[in-house]
Amino acid sequence: MKKWKNLLAGLVVLALLLAGCSSVGQTADGSQPEVGGQPIGEAEGSGRLNVHYLDVGQGNAALLESEGHYMLIDGGNRKASSFVVSYLKRQNVESLDYILISHFDEDHLAGAIGALYQFPAGKVITADYETDSSIYKSYQDAMEKQRYEETHPSQGDVFSLGSASVRVISPVSYGHEDENEDSVGVIVENGDNRFFFGGDMGKTGEKQVMESGADIAADVFLLNHHGSYLSSRFLEQISPSYAVISCGDGNSYGHPRQDTIKLLEDDGIPVFRTDKQGTIILHSDGKIISWEQEPCNDYTPGTRTASGDKEEPYVEENNSDAEHCDYVLNTHTKKIHLPSCSSLKGMKEDNKAYYKGSKDELIDNGYEACGNCKP
Ligand SMILES: [Zn+2]
Ligand SMILES: [Zn+2]
Repeated sequence: MKKWKNLLAGLVVLALLLAGCSSVGQTADGSQPEVGGQPIGEAEGSGRLNVHYLDVGQGNAALLESEGHYMLIDGGNRKASSFVVSYLKRQNVESLDYILISHFDEDHLAGAIGALYQFPAGKVITADYETDSSIYKSYQDAMEKQRYEETHPSQGDVFSLGSASVRVISPVSYGHEDENEDSVGVIVENGDNRFFFGGDMGKTGEKQVMESGADIAADVFLLNHHGSYLSSRFLEQISPSYAVISCGDGNSYGHPRQDTIKLLEDDGIPVFRTDKQGTIILHSDGKIISWEQEPCNDYTPGTRTASGDKEEPYVEENNSDAEHCDYVLNTHTKKIHLPSCSSLKGMKEDNKAYYKGSKDELIDNGYEACGNCKP
């Protein structure tokens, strides 16, 4: 049903594109929306949601508006801070119902500090942890000066934004060693349209969200962590009609990752990228999503440079089952076993993964052959 709706929405947008582009973004009553930095969709009860994925270089920031209610999700890095504030001012934002800071890394937090000073906020929603970075201290100062208290949401919490509702999907619990995994992730729902924002959630967060059984299906998927790690199972569960990547042109981290962008390409998911297209804007009327630009469908990965974070190569360890796998892996000890190996009997179920594919790929990912069954 969901897929069918996505497909239908996609076809309608495609039909509009083919019809000559001028009708893209048309409102339900046939009038043209105001675009180009003007406020959009203020009609009472129109059920419209507008999403702006801001071009903040290497980082993340999105402005959401529905029926005159605004939410800022992350604020980009230090360099983007004044851009974010001026962008919001150009949109005639006077106050924000919510400032959601997915986690306290500089590329999400820094620009949000400017917003804390410039716009009265109804609620400041953040991950539940503290850190000792200098940017976090500036954030604490801003919170104190503006007399805000943090709200730490839990998975399943729901709050409303105009005609839309915002449902918290992550983290399943706080306290991860890697703070990215504590990212507050939400799905914003407007009528039949759903939008996914997962902060810098990574491998662990994805796994925990999937295990929690939360419904994460969405029409538009803002890739986690600027297009870093993504598993095919997670993508399958979201089953998006569109993907958006927020990353900096020529960033040193190599975002988006080759294996991640390939998953999108293989599934034929249209992709929008802030590094190639700048700020990306869409409108939802609850049924149809219309975009202010066409997808760039540029599936070239970023190039990692020496100054960037070293990211491990990635293999999906549990891509098969007991009947069809080539190898059984111990994800804890990082050993590769034949399915017939006698040492499998004592292996904890939690550590067991069934793998179909090449042994070399596993070895590239830090695995070793078992000395007993010698695969
Ligand atoms: Zn981060
Ligand atoms: Zn980030």
